Amino acid sequence: HSNVYFCFFLQEKSLRIDTMKTTFIKIFKRHPVFQLDENSTFEHKLSAIFLTTGFLMPIFGFITNAIFQYSFMLNFPNLLAACMILFLPIIFTNKIVTITKVELYIVGFIYFPFLYFTNNAYLGAVPIYFIMIIVYFSFYLKGKELLFTVVSLSLYYSGLFIFAYNVPNSYIPYSDKLTGLIDYIIALTFMTIVVGILGAMTYKGYRNERAVTLSLLDKLKIKNKELETLTNTDHLTNIFNRRYFMEKIDMLIKEQTNDFYVLMIDIDDFKDVNDKYGHLFGDEVLRLIAESLSDCIRQYDTLARYGGEEFSVLITNSTKESCLHIAERMRKNVNDLKFRYDLTVTISIGVSQYTPNASSKDVLDNADKNLYTAKDQGKNQVVC
Ligand code: GH3
Ligand code: MG
Ligand code: MG
Repeated sequence: HSNVYFCFFLQEKSLRIDTMKTTFIKIFKRHPVFQLDENSTFEHKLSAIFLTTGFLMPIFGFITNAIFQYSFMLNFPNLLAACMILFLPIIFTNKIVTITKVELYIVGFIYFPFLYFTNNAYLGAVPIYFIMIIVYFSFYLKGKELLFTVVSLSLYYSGLFIFAYNVPNSYIPYSDKLTGLIDYIIALTFMTIVVGILGAMTYKGYRNERAVTLSLLDKLKIKNKELETLTNTDHLTNIFNRRYFMEKIDMLIKEQTNDFYVLMIDIDDFKDVNDKYGHLFGDEVLRLIAESLSDCIRQYDTLARYGGEEFSVLITNSTKESCLHIAERMRKNVNDLKFRYDLTVTISIGVSQYTPNASSKDVLDNADKNLYTAKDQGKNQVVC
């Protein structure tokens, strides 16, 4: 009987240990250090560095003190600091930034000064920690809070230096040189690790942000280019629109380019085409005519859809003769086009030459006038 009972006892005990273990792991997984990943905020990462180094530091202190057999009273604050840094973030998991800030203040204003007086004051290694915590604050805080904290910490630590200098009995010196050496090595190691990680992290963040900004800028440039093309283009015919055409003329006038020509083109009896075959077919005709016109111009001329079934052309670096030649070729090409239903269409063209000191309106009016003359004289012709 007793044997069976003992077996049960063992089984139950191991079960209890198992559940304790899983609960323990579950609780520790809540610690912000284990919640860290690539997408964590800068503050979360900073907190994790502080919580890790801040936990290890008092543990090291505790072990070395224990080895050198200091009294437990001197080791008690180390234990307290380690527990505070370990457990507070587990209790207040979603207030990690605030908790870390509180801990930073406790460490900076209470724990480090305690270490200072128990480790040879200004001749010991603790001033290295003073510098470290000020560096840490400068990464963690911003604006007025940072200014206030750094100034008050500097004043506070200066006060501690002056006090220990004037009252030599106020601090416990190192018991021997080796203790001092170990203390310095530990302090320098932590300082190097913390400052190194902080620097690397900030630089990496800066580089990532820069890469993101640059790629966004590139995308913006491409989008702007697309938008520019879109605002300058006529959707139906895919040639320039009136807005761009007017802009181009104004630019030429502004640059005092005195030799350019404007052609105004209007499709003859286009209303009939629409009436007979419908608007959709009319649109198709407009597209094909635009294509045919653009075959006649040179690279640096500008062809635009001026209005409904009117086109305009801007010709630069040309003579009147070759300009008329272009217009005539346009007229002929369109006339030669064969559409569905065996339809042919003609265009009339008014040409005008820019005269110095004229306005864009003058040159357009002149082209329009010539266009109407062409219409009056029977259409399907070029008038200059
Ligand atoms: P004219 O020889 O005197 O120029 O006669 P017209 O019939 O061509 O007269 P007008 O130049 O005033 O042409 C206007 C017509 O053009 C009216 C409209 O049916 C047609 N039109 C204007 N814009 C469009 C368009 O975007 N698509 C289609 N299909 N037709 C258009
Ligand atoms: Mg018209
Ligand atoms: Mg017309």
